[in-house]
Amino acid sequence: MMNALKKTGFTTLALNVPYAKNDPHNSLQMPLYETVAFDFESAEQMEANFRGEYAAHVYSRSSSPTVEYFELKLKALTESQGVLAVSSGMAAIADVLLSVTKAGDNIISGHQLFGHTYALLSQTLGEFGLEARFSDLKKKEEIEMLVDENTRAIYFETVTNPQLEIADIEMLAEVAQKHGLLLIADSTLTPPNVFRASKFGVNVEVVSATKYFSGGATSFGGVIIDHGNYDWSLNPNFSKYIEKYGQNAFIARLRKNIYRNTGGSMAPQTAKFMIQGLDILELRVEKCYQNCLALGAFMQSHAKVKAVGYPGLKSDSDYPLAKKYFCGVPGTIMSFDLESKEACFEFMNKLNVIRRATNLNDNKTLIIHPYSTIYAEFSEEERAKANIRDTMIRLSVGIENVEDLIADMEQALA
Ligand SMILES: *Cc1c(COP(=O)(O)O)cnc(C)c1O
Repeated sequence: MMNALKKTGFTTLALNVPYAKNDPHNSLQMPLYETVAFDFESAEQMEANFRGEYAAHVYSRSSSPTVEYFELKLKALTESQGVLAVSSGMAAIADVLLSVTKAGDNIISGHQLFGHTYALLSQTLGEFGLEARFSDLKKKEEIEMLVDENTRAIYFETVTNPQLEIADIEMLAEVAQKHGLLLIADSTLTPPNVFRASKFGVNVEVVSATKYFSGGATSFGGVIIDHGNYDWSLNPNFSKYIEKYGQNAFIARLRKNIYRNTGGSMAPQTAKFMIQGLDILELRVEKCYQNCLALGAFMQSHAKVKAVGYPGLKSDSDYPLAKKYFCGVPGTIMSFDLESKEACFEFMNKLNVIRRATNLNDNKTLIIHPYSTIYAEFSEEERAKANIRDTMIRLSVGIENVEDLIADMEQALA
């Protein structure tokens, strides 16, 4: 029902993406190539490879068969120009930003960002001369005022967490196009079975594969997806790569420079988890979404719950945006407010099925009080700016039988 791919079903496609090379045993599962290096038949073949005339895996930090298959599968599922798998979501974000900027450049982003992304932008990259300009990404005029000749990109999250604010993606795409900027989306919360990034003008997606793609908190990973819809000649970093690689200049620069030389590659064992994770992604998202709807209805009818945040609920003011961009499924993270911080803690401590943990999109339902944990180091003013209330709880909804989740919440609210 919530498949954004038009031609084949998402899961059917996931299960049928061919391998780059035939498996000699016709294995139905992509084998795990847990190796560092690959043999060549001759010195001549080796020379041809290093000259770029004969494609083959050489050394697994640069590329390897199991990781390549994960990339191919995601490329097919996102109908994109190219995919690069890396060691974590943060590695994906850092690789992209380092690839499209140099010292003296700036990028524009929002106030509400994943915590470590905010730290990367405001601290780490700043130390290397890259300036992050933070804006209210809902305000077109505010964004345009920040653009100058050294601006390279607009970076945003499709749905912010834990505020669950949906980005005005088409407006951001319009501003990016007008000024020749790269539009980068962190789409971790909205997987490709519900969100077609290129349809709305996004050029590059970064994803924490640790979340949905891993099949349920099995391993760490990140991916970079190039949608092939940006003119790389607008960015001087790519001039050398455009000559040789044309529309593949972005992934080529990553593979030959930033990604290879900083070494944040995905382990083959991890790729194996990710491949399996993509096979069952649609099933899991569907189940989590149905659970969100049921939990939402339960919480809305409970006297002790003051407010419920989930733009997938038809009653939510952002539902029209959820429908427009994400087939009505704006991820499967919810928030709700209780009377006080004390009431939140008391409720959390009484839970038996729902786990107190900080991850997202595990198969298990996870709960956290963001104000006292993720935002612990923020000042009162910063929390207010990010709309983090001490009465708010975040729930990452899993695939359990929903009646057990409801019973757990009911007894903890009593
Ligand atoms: C978790 C997360 C990240 C970071 O990913 P890691 O795999 O933990 O490095 C980035 N963005 C968002 C939206 C996330 O939820």
